[in-house]
Amino acid sequence: MNQQLSDKTVLVTGGSRGIGRAITLAVARAGANVVSCYRQDGEHIDALAGELKNVPGDHQLVKADVTVPGEVDALVEGVRERHGRLHGIVHNAGVISHVPFGALTLDEWNRVVDTSLTAAYLVVNRALPLLSEGASVVAIGSRVATVGIPLRAHYTAAKSGLIGLVRGLTKELSPSGIRVNLVSPGMIETPEAAAKLSPEQRRAYEERYADIIAMRRFGRPEDIAGAVLFLLSEQSAYITGENINVDGGI
Ligand code: NDP
Repeated sequence: MNQQLSDKTVLVTGGSRGIGRAITLAVARAGANVVSCYRQDGEHIDALAGELKNVPGDHQLVKADVTVPGEVDALVEGVRERHGRLHGIVHNAGVISHVPFGALTLDEWNRVVDTSLTAAYLVVNRALPLLSEGASVVAIGSRVATVGIPLRAHYTAAKSGLIGLVRGLTKELSPSGIRVNLVSPGMIETPEAAAKLSPEQRRAYEERYADIIAMRRFGRPEDIAGAVLFLLSEQSAYITGENINVDGGI
């Protein structure tokens, strides 16, 4: 087992499903104590908790909506009481919708921007006192932030905002030895998304994207987790302010 994060504590937002789940497990397997938050209870939480039980370390799944300041405060306070400090934050929580711009409501704009961008501010802002020399912050952006895509202007704007946030924090936090980076996934096939597609939809989806992705396959959650682990580890000690595309060559 790779122990590059041995005895460190890492907070992962939106760690119960998809990419966040893979990050949670990878971080725990790398030797860290992981605190992962989510909103909705269910069998998937019990299953993840069961998997984490088999991984050495002090792991916690905490119900906390990262768009609600009071819930972020409680989450961070829980980390402080239990672990004292944090080595890493991975802001992975994000929501998406496909809406023509003319029909995009302010509520929907806010839901998407609050989850991807404002929550990144909230979590890092509140957890900052727990970070010190050597700490690493990673935000999960999206390849669309620098490409653009129809029907997702709100999502694209939120993810582009993360690029600015990362650049700004890099300049501000580097003197304290805290690194801040972004991982921008391309088309990642999560088990949940795959399960929703009919065979016809899947064929159409594959045809549409095969020409766009040089490696001619969708990414896996583990592909993103690998890049995140690298950015949390000492191996990336001189990398900050970067946006790493993990997209199979779009
Ligand atoms: P999923 O929808 O599969 O999972 C999202 C996770 O975030 C869930 O654990 C969900 O928990 C949690 N979450 C959502 N909102 C909140 C909230 N307000 N507070 C706390 N937790 C929350 O997403 P993916 O795994 O597909 O995506 C993960 C990240 O990667 C997102 O930021 C997404 O934008 C980005 N991304 C994904 C791509 C892809 O192809 N899948 C491509 C590019 C970027 P719960 O179920 O409890 O709400």
